[in-house]
Amino acid sequence: MIELRNVSKWYDKFQVLADCSTQVARGDVMVICGPSGSGKSTLIKTVNGLEPFQQGEIIVDGTSVGAAGTDLPRLRARIGMVFQNFELFPHLSVRANLVLGQVKVLGRGREEAEARGLHFLERVGLLAQQDKHPHQLSGGQQQRVAIARALAMDPVALLFDEPTSALDPEMINEVLDVMVDLAREGMTMMVVTHEMGFARKVANRVVFMDQGRIVEDCATEAFFGAPRSARAREFLARII
Ligand code: ADP
Ligand code: MG
Repeated sequence: MIELRNVSKWYDKFQVLADCSTQVARGDVMVICGPSGSGKSTLIKTVNGLEPFQQGEIIVDGTSVGAAGTDLPRLRARIGMVFQNFELFPHLSVRANLVLGQVKVLGRGREEAEARGLHFLERVGLLAQQDKHPHQLSGGQQQRVAIARALAMDPVALLFDEPTSALDPEMINEVLDVMVDLAREGMTMMVVTHEMGFARKVANRVVFMDQGRIVEDCATEAFFGAPRSARAREFLARII
């Protein structure tokens, strides 16, 4: 479904990704963890074309992300992304947030887009909030709207970049619960998170990054049981 082959990226002379290779199969839930600044956000942004890269190749559902002529807006619609800070359109109602991308990017009619949007809004338990604006919702609610908005685009996979890091503790679980359900239903997911409880429970793969490199890429049990690298062992000792 998603394949990275020897991906490297530089900001000027600073190498932010170094020879990163991994694969995500259909239905995989991959958790990506590692210290701050290790390149996690950059890595998942390269997957849906939000960040260019200079070397290597990324294939998403048969499409080469870096190739000239790739329709990036369409690719981004197929690979939904959920950010730390929700990134809803602040001036639009919840309902309009759900409809916009479907109409603009997928060319759906307004009625169909609204029906699909509200279907997913109901799934995340927020149907009653459809007329509100993002600032009238809690952080946890905004993040659930962001997930519903991504789902309404019929993504083949979803990318999450620290989706619960900006939330108050009491709101973290309402977002994680939605993600757990999605994973159980077979959604393909790449999730950057420090929520190791979620990783243990839901992920089947864990990638550990350090200084732009993928240092560990293994089954979840193997990662938590006995990480091979000293760096991952230190990381786990501090975080758990
Ligand atoms: P993480 O998500 O693991 O915290 P990032 O992918 O955000 O790491 O960043 C990795 C490194 O790249 C950091 O050292 C960061 O300072 C640097 N970096 C990120 N974005 C830029 C940018 N636009 N220009 C220059 N350096 C950047
Ligand atoms: Mg980050």
